[in-house]
Amino acid sequence: MDFKGQVAVVTGAGRGIGQAIAESLAGLGVDIAVVDLSADDAGTVARALSDKGVKAVPVVADVSDADSVKEMFGTVVKEFGRLDILVNNAGITRDALLLRMKEEDWDSVMDVNLKSVFLCSKEAVKIMAKQRYGRIVNIASVVAFMGNPGQANYSASKAGIVGLTKTIAREYASRGITSNAVAPGFIMTAMTEKLPDNVRDEMLKSIPMGKLGTVQDVAAAVVFLASPEAGYVTGQVVHVNGGMYM
Ligand code: NAP
Repeated sequence: MDFKGQVAVVTGAGRGIGQAIAESLAGLGVDIAVVDLSADDAGTVARALSDKGVKAVPVVADVSDADSVKEMFGTVVKEFGRLDILVNNAGITRDALLLRMKEEDWDSVMDVNLKSVFLCSKEAVKIMAKQRYGRIVNIASVVAFMGNPGQANYSASKAGIVGLTKTIAREYASRGITSNAVAPGFIMTAMTEKLPDNVRDEMLKSIPMGKLGTVQDVAAAVVFLASPEAGYVTGQVVHVNGGMYM
């Protein structure tokens, strides 16, 4: 895959899946804007990527906030002068059963997981459309397709991402911009470490491969969809879940 001269924005790249995506792209020579809420995490990841010989700039932003997102893309244009790849990865959980779920937990998950994809894609498309080239990759989840008790907000936000991904694909295919999603199953990160042992054991029973995925499993799918070679793939969801949903 030839990523020469390309620039990527990866949101939520301060740890977990986003960090792995940023590392994989940087390993292929892509310059990276490392976007995160935490200045410390973004700075640490950007320094490590710079050591690989690419340009990596930490950008502190709240992707659920329109002004913050605008400022972030302003920084990207100033620092890099172009944008080829946007990976909308930042996400949170605020789990509770429907009857116990607070309205603020519904709203914050919707804002960080779904509204962010709208805000960031809108800014990215302005730049990509002028270049007549772009790759947008959104991180959804297997629960968008299966539902999950305790995750009404999260599964709805991720299902929303799938509809948004397909709509952007249809609207901007003619400008050379592709829009796809990756739907991870259960991946070993801080997000899944919080799960109690009994929930984790039950989960493993539902995965034909009998193990959780790794952040690198997800990053590999993102790298393909972000590559120039995936130019005829758009509006698709790639499932990375060890067979738990097929
Ligand atoms: P994670 O370890 O919790 O990392 C999420 C990252 O997003 C953190 O660096 C966090 O920053 C950042 N973030 C959160 N809110 C943000 C905001 N408003 N603006 C900017 N950055 C923000 O999560 P992960 O497991 O790597 O998950 C990454 C993505 O994969 C998420 O979209 C998640 O829904 C999805 N996913 C994960 C799994 C899984 O099994 N882990 C499965 C399916 C889908 P701070 O550290 O500063 O809070």
